[in-house]
Amino acid sequence: MKRQFIAGATCPECGQQDKIQRVIEDDRQWMECVSCGASKDLDAKPPEATDALARPVTLLPPKK
Ligand SMILES: [Zn+2]
Repeated sequence: MKRQFIAGATCPECGQQDKIQRVIEDDRQWMECVSCGASKDLDAKPPEATDALARPVTLLPPKK
């Protein structure tokens, strides 16, 4: 099992920042709040989805 904090992520339940861990176990992964214990399944999303929270998103790629 691997745990890593998601920098800048805010817990949707308690609103605390930097308390969200991504937990990876075999082929499963979920988010867990170390403050209130809320957890959210990430199986339906690719791992990049959580990284997008802390990253600017380009909706329209520049055209040539
Ligand atoms: Zn929380």
